[in-house]
Amino acid sequence: MVEARYFDGRSSRPRAVLLDWQDGALMLNDGEETLRRHPLQEVDVTEQLGDGPRLLRLPGGGVCEVDDREGLASLLQAGGYRDGLVARGQRSLLLAVLAIVALIAIAAAGYQWGVPIAADLVAARVPEELVARSGEETLELLDDHWLRPSRLPGARREALRSQFAALRPPDGEAPHWRLLFRAAPQVGANAFALPGGDIVLTDELVALARDDREIMAVLAHELGHQHYRHGLRSALQGIIVGAAVTAWLGDVSTALAGLSSAVLGARYSREFEREADTYAARMLQHNNLSSEWLATALQRLEQAHAGKVDGTPSLLSTHPHTAERIEALKVHR
Ligand SMILES: [Zn+2]
Repeated sequence: MVEARYFDGRSSRPRAVLLDWQDGALMLNDGEETLRRHPLQEVDVTEQLGDGPRLLRLPGGGVCEVDDREGLASLLQAGGYRDGLVARGQRSLLLAVLAIVALIAIAAAGYQWGVPIAADLVAARVPEELVARSGEETLELLDDHWLRPSRLPGARREALRSQFAALRPPDGEAPHWRLLFRAAPQVGANAFALPGGDIVLTDELVALARDDREIMAVLAHELGHQHYRHGLRSALQGIIVGAAVTAWLGDVSTALAGLSSAVLGARYSREFEREADTYAARMLQHNNLSSEWLATALQRLEQAHAGKVDGTPSLLSTHPHTAERIEALKVHR
């Protein structure tokens, strides 16, 4: 028998009672009569945490407070009661390790799925002026460091622009776009889509292509990035990951790094590339052009960049797995 204080839930005054285990039930006895009788599985026993008394919540109201924790433990044991998960877990190294593994898994899942979902939710709400401004700032940064004015004759630029403008997009309306020409001696043959609709095409890429349809295929791919707003979404992913890392490490200043650097630092994911490739293939077919032109352009770009490490945001560093992508394009032929 174990001594306890019983609160019946109506009066605030406790009554001294004795707890006992009889015929498969927990008995409350005040010394004269049995006050209550409950099967143990109906009693809610609080976890053993710290030094305080243990509480037994009785069905239908009423609480017993027990100071004699050892006595209660043996009484519970006699009744076949097992400690709750938390109390046992605190004593279990294995459970602690499992909890850490689960935490890491949750963080990884957050990175894998949570970040893109959060980025997409934010992307849908970013005002267009802000998107356009981040694209402009990125272009300024590129112009200051890697890009030079194009040396292509104006007529050639205009011909490429109108050739591309004449292509019909695969689904409905074309996303807003503007084609910009730049020389990029350090970067080489390249094209990229900036948030807000700008597509930058380098003179080197124009020179590398042996057929304008290869250039059209690359532009269609970049238009795919614009269609899906990949630049903004991937920049936001970078910012969210950066903010999460900053929150974890506790340094605020790095969280304030601009959208522009995030655009440059963020690499398009494989999924984004696949989406843009598919968009380009559909757009080419929609205009009675073979999607082979994109595969040819990708192959030529890979050969042109083979062995070069330039440390700049190149089409190849942001567009990995060329062989895989060329393979995937075959389904569109
Ligand atoms: Zn791409």
